[in-house]
Amino acid sequence: MNFKIGKKMIEPTKILCLGRNYVEHAKEMRSQIPKSPLFFVKTVNTLVTDGNPIIYPKLLYNNPEYNQVDHEVELAFVISKTSKNILTKQAYDFIGGYSVFLDITARKMQISDRNMNFPWYRSKNFDSFGPIGPRIASIDEIQDPHNLEIQLKVNGKTRQKSNTKHMIFKIPEILAYLSKFTTLVPGDIVATGTPSGVGSIQPGDVIEASIDQIGTITHKVILGE
Ligand code: MG
Repeated sequence: MNFKIGKKMIEPTKILCLGRNYVEHAKEMRSQIPKSPLFFVKTVNTLVTDGNPIIYPKLLYNNPEYNQVDHEVELAFVISKTSKNILTKQAYDFIGGYSVFLDITARKMQISDRNMNFPWYRSKNFDSFGPIGPRIASIDEIQDPHNLEIQLKVNGKTRQKSNTKHMIFKIPEILAYLSKFTTLVPGDIVATGTPSGVGSIQPGDVIEASIDQIGTITHKVILGE
């Protein structure tokens, strides 16, 4: 799959996401703070670009056991060169730029699966559960990716507001760690975790997610099939 973010075409093969990378978010989820980066995968069917709807599946909406879908705004970076066993000091040579990412999550399904020691896969990978954009800010544009205001509004009201300086594991460490286990290829996306303030979305809501120096993505939530 390839698609444009702004004017740039990217061709991701995978989206790797950090869990619990902000202390305040780990606390609000009553989860332990990980000692090393905690990863899960999202698949490319989740990706939608700025302006396209987030689809709330009827499978979730009509089932009281599963009818909670949450927003999580995250800073994402996009890989520019094949990366395997990268050293932290080399990491920025392998990153092409940054974007705004939403890790949309079927929360009740995730908690239910977690409680049964099942993987998180299905709660994270419904179509359109990975909005990204509105562009890729190049690595040269962003002087310090660990000092960017990050926020998310639902229907104009602020839900999440933080700064990427609060990330537990920083980008070089994340890429070095990840590349020990998997080869990342150009276009692959790494989402760096969400700050606190995650909450539910409903069909009809309008989500605006912003990161300073990158931009804002806007997505309406619609009820799907
Ligand atoms: Mg997340």
